[in-house]
Amino acid sequence: MARTVIVLGLEMPLPIVETTPSAVHMEMYKTANAELDRLAYGLTRYLNRSGQASFFFPRDGFGSMRALRENNRAAFSHVMAAKYAGLGTVGASHCLLTPEFGPRVRFVSVFTSAVLSPDPTVGKELCIKCEACAKCCPKKAIRMRSDRIIGDYDDQACLGMAEELVARRCFPCGICTKVCPIGEDRSRYGQKGAMKKYLREAEALAANPDDPEYRSWTHLRKYGAARGKKPGAEKK
Ligand code: SF4
Ligand code: SF4
Repeated sequence: MARTVIVLGLEMPLPIVETTPSAVHMEMYKTANAELDRLAYGLTRYLNRSGQASFFFPRDGFGSMRALRENNRAAFSHVMAAKYAGLGTVGASHCLLTPEFGPRVRFVSVFTSAVLSPDPTVGKELCIKCEACAKCCPKKAIRMRSDRIIGDYDDQACLGMAEELVARRCFPCGICTKVCPIGEDRSRYGQKGAMKKYLREAEALAANPDDPEYRSWTHLRKYGAARGKKPGAEKK
């Protein structure tokens, strides 16, 4: 019955994303997800009451890490829906990059029988192939491709990171969303020139876990999460 897919996006504020992996990042992620489902549920009910048959696809759809390990496939892609809804373009990291928040956005999709005029898709690719997502990924799960924008993605390696962080209660990883230079949010938070800091982080914290340059992030990582490998301590 669906004639239109409406995609809603909510931003993940950059200063919290920069602390990943941390308990505060996990809480922000859960709050954004819950709010997305709440908004989609409300819109679905509004459309149904207006006589337009509607339902929504929740922003996540898996039961456990074990379920993902056994079958790491999605029934539906909010990323592709958001691209065709005109919200952004898909970057090397496989994330949807938006002009406003780069990849620091989460999505949910409402299917409806209402016929609505579509927004235009974003004409220009937003990914500048800077390679920051590939370089900073602690599991080397993203590999740049010379023949296209979207990189090769090792979903099992990324899942391995997620499993470690779920066990420590400070998921998700999201380092590839943190370091992406795209997004007007960077200017708002005065973080346009943070790339060198991101690229040096793993090495600097491996040498000195209390490096003062990273203290505002490492301070938050110390609380609320179980200890595991030192955040950012993986060798490049
Ligand atoms: S970090 Fe760079 S290469 Fe990766 S998605 Fe963003 S712009 Fe593209
Ligand atoms: S979420 Fe983390 S492990 Fe997965 S691709 Fe992004 S940086 Fe790599």
